[in-house]
Amino acid sequence: MNAIYWFRNDLRLTDQPSLNRACTLADTIAPVFIHPVDSLTTWGFERIGRHRKHARCSAVLALKRQLIEDGSDLFEYSSEPCETLIRLAHAWRIQTIFCEEIAAPEEQHQVERLRHAGLTVVTTWQSSLLEDQDLPFEMNHLPLVFTDFRKAVENAKVHVRKPEYFVRYTTPLPAGVTHTQPDMSECRPINSWDMRTSIPYFHEPEFAGTTFGLKHINQYFERKLAHDYKRTRNQLSGVDYSTKFSVWLASGAVSARMIFENLQEFEHDHGANEGTYWIWFELLWRDYFRFLHHRFGAQLYRRSGLRSADQAPLGSAVIKTSEQFETFERWCQGNSGEAFVDAGMRELRLTGYLSNRMRQVTASHLVHELGLDWRAGAAWFESQLIDYDVYSNQGNWLYIAGCGTDPRGGRAMRPDKQALEHDPLETYRKKWGTL
Ligand SMILES: Cc1cc2nc3c(=O)[nH]c(=O)nc-3n(C[C@H](O)[C@H](O)[C@H](O)COP(=O)(O)OP(=O)(O)OC[C@H]3O[C@@H](n4cnc5c(N)ncnc54)[C@H](O)[C@@H]3O)c2cc1C
Repeated sequence: MNAIYWFRNDLRLTDQPSLNRACTLADTIAPVFIHPVDSLTTWGFERIGRHRKHARCSAVLALKRQLIEDGSDLFEYSSEPCETLIRLAHAWRIQTIFCEEIAAPEEQHQVERLRHAGLTVVTTWQSSLLEDQDLPFEMNHLPLVFTDFRKAVENAKVHVRKPEYFVRYTTPLPAGVTHTQPDMSECRPINSWDMRTSIPYFHEPEFAGTTFGLKHINQYFERKLAHDYKRTRNQLSGVDYSTKFSVWLASGAVSARMIFENLQEFEHDHGANEGTYWIWFELLWRDYFRFLHHRFGAQLYRRSGLRSADQAPLGSAVIKTSEQFETFERWCQGNSGEAFVDAGMRELRLTGYLSNRMRQVTASHLVHELGLDWRAGAAWFESQLIDYDVYSNQGNWLYIAGCGTDPRGGRAMRPDKQALEHDPLETYRKKWGTL
């Protein structure tokens, strides 16, 4: 069988069950990556901002180099994915496409379109740390509160499966499919970056790829930062206070299982403590939002989220009037007049990264104080974040807006109180020029 392997989110060759499956079943594989063509969101800004684009392109570059080293290649296009895949399948006389499963509405629709065009699409779920079949409940009984989910998983001692490692990727290209000039018109690398960033890796051409990701993860554990994670994780600036693993989890250059394996080895060699436990705890949050998508799907994309359709989330007006647009624009640009929030929004816009604490503070401000539609905020984060992840972004925004699974019905955080607790010396606000 000749097949196309369509790289979607996960840009790696190791621990990629979907690719392993393709290599087992197909005799030849044409690896393809399609750079999404930028479009505007409903709120008028580009869907994929420059930092996110840069990170994604650097991961693609790393993947392509690895494939070429293994005697294959990566065929890159900048176009609409479904049309391109259908065209390639016809041109190359290929019937089957293998790819990972992505449990979000747009991505599911893409697979449906390909199937509708007569292609066989073989999808494999691989994005979570835990396998859904190992969970101690059926997916339609996924607990509606994270703590219940975590306790159920921990009480049942659910085992994390070992990563699937390839020795080498050796599947040949189909006959007649030749190395082409890649269409990378959607890749515009950033040549100068803001030195205040917490992710000081932009100058490395392949920084979001597997080799660099593993290097970062190794140094994180070698320097024993994991032991202090719980104490430092709520800080606002710097590379070491949190793991930064989200960069490589989002590019798919490293899997959650590969990270967990490193965590286990670290605990074995240096001892477990509340810091190491808390990394597992946060990775469970990541899984929880994934499984929430399995259970509720498109419902998570409604303005009312998991509330009934006629119940809009508290304080969340649809952005319609020019005044609302201006308020939203000021929030995006870091010019709302609320110094702590603005510092965060400037950091996000200028670096493509924001600490978890500042994501919460800025999101809460948009929803609970400015009273604007949380979906516009989620779209802005989607555009800006280099670690954008559809499940975590949607899940966290729903949670803060009070239309997801927060048992308290939403997280309203007062910026002045948050600033006092997390930026008592005003260092963060001064760093971003809002004081
Ligand atoms: C409004 C909002 C939007 C967010 N959007 C994203 C997003 O698009 N992509 C993304 O990866 N995370 C998102 N998060 C979650 C979290 O802020 C980031 O995962 C974290 O800041 C990434 O930095 P880190 O890797 O150093 O995290 P660490 O604190 O070191 O955490 C380790 C890992 O655990 C996971 N994790 C930690 N916190 C969360 C969380 N609240 N939800 C889900 N997973 C978590 C991540 O995979 C992270 O890499 C969002 C949070 C909020 C409040």
